[in-house]
Amino acid sequence: MTLCFSGNDYKYELEGVMKLFIPATLFNIVYEDKIPSGDEFAFVRKKQFDNYALLYVICSYNGKRARKVCKAGSDEDHELCLSRLLFKAMSELTGSTPKWGIITGIRPVKQVNRYLSRNMTEDEIFTAMQKDYLCSDEKCGIAMKTAYAQKKILDEHDKNSFSLYVSIPFCPTRCSYCSFVSQSIEQCMGQIPEYLDNLCKEIEYTGSLVRKLGLTLDTVYFGGGTPTTLEADQLERLMKTIAASFDMSHVREYTVEAGRPDTITYEKLETIKKNGCTRVSINPQTLSDSVLEKIGRKHTTEQFFKAYDIARQVGFDCINTDIIAGLPSDTPESFAHTVDKLIELGAENITVHTLSIKRAARLNRDREEGLLENPADKMVGYATKRLHESGYAPYYLYRQKNMLENLENIGWSKPGRESLYNVYIMEEVQTIIAVGAGGSTKLVDLDGKRLERVFNYKFPLEYNKHFDLMLEKKNELEEFYAQKK
Ligand code: SF4
Repeated sequence: MTLCFSGNDYKYELEGVMKLFIPATLFNIVYEDKIPSGDEFAFVRKKQFDNYALLYVICSYNGKRARKVCKAGSDEDHELCLSRLLFKAMSELTGSTPKWGIITGIRPVKQVNRYLSRNMTEDEIFTAMQKDYLCSDEKCGIAMKTAYAQKKILDEHDKNSFSLYVSIPFCPTRCSYCSFVSQSIEQCMGQIPEYLDNLCKEIEYTGSLVRKLGLTLDTVYFGGGTPTTLEADQLERLMKTIAASFDMSHVREYTVEAGRPDTITYEKLETIKKNGCTRVSINPQTLSDSVLEKIGRKHTTEQFFKAYDIARQVGFDCINTDIIAGLPSDTPESFAHTVDKLIELGAENITVHTLSIKRAARLNRDREEGLLENPADKMVGYATKRLHESGYAPYYLYRQKNMLENLENIGWSKPGRESLYNVYIMEEVQTIIAVGAGGSTKLVDLDGKRLERVFNYKFPLEYNKHFDLMLEKKNELEEFYAQKK
């Protein structure tokens, strides 16, 4: 498919719009003033005059053509206008109308928060989201509700605080749809002792830096991978190192992802609870054994229920459960059963993901094999309705590339049980210092205006090998905060 620009170079945005309709496609980008030859193209033209611009789009796809034109004043956003024209033309040719409209970025709620900070009313925000971004009523509503749920958390957060992310990029086996940096324990068992030694050193060093900077630790989050792949004594060692390296007296939330139920034992959950963990995530992804088998997730639904039960016995009063809409071979009925069962269990947080397929080749292959024909939109709609009815509210929302039907991931919570860390990471209002392989530190200044990222080495092997260099990178923290003064 050729994407041709004339009189403009809005490549990034407009390619994003095209991918809403034809995902996982490599576009042939050209800059020419004439309409491309061939059967499949989008021609995007801006002709500038003294006080206005003439904008038009001609698309050819599936043996049909669509043409959209508009005249835009000098004060209008021409990139946005062309995005809307392209969206309308492709919608006409494909018969599909993605519900988020031309919002292609990952954080739609950020846009709503921007509007709220300008004191716009709910009606004004709905109008702007629909008029500017062609967003549907349904998605505007979800974004608004999410923004309201976040408001208190965002208003109350201490600007001098930070969160600590601890990366444990190991899992017992690798699920076929994994999009994280994670390695199966069978492959990298030998790397773990050195990894833990280094991780403890990085934690201690980070502790000394934040003491100098006068930052307050607010939340801790163990992610990965599956942190509970580690043994109880290894988890205890890490948690004790954190407690010795930071002032824990202001910590309001301490999450450990215990994602895979097949890693959970009474001893591990008791150990993390004893060492300060307040919230665990136990993720069934689906409560259908046949779907679990299909996605190569080597545990059963029975193991999930057992793990959930252990978490309650140990005393956890905040449990998150992740599920995924649109998994290969799942059906609306079995997805509905998953949602109903988790609500019945009373999990405080239920996170509804939509399947995102990282590798385009895999997406196309699974489509061809008919594995992805289940209606993810219908599944997400069911979850939304049931969770609303059951007293949950959406509190964070994000999108990824190659998500089925251009949908989203939504964290739902019972009132007052929202995870602070999840809001901070989505809205980028607080510094998050990451330790461990695959971690990415986000530095946010006191005004919330300057944002910088520092990346750790991605895989445990290179993390171990270049550990000294990696530790040196941590000094960027001091440089960042020195700039603010
Ligand atoms: S448990 Fe999660 S992180 Fe681990 S392989 Fe499966 S999807 Fe990836």
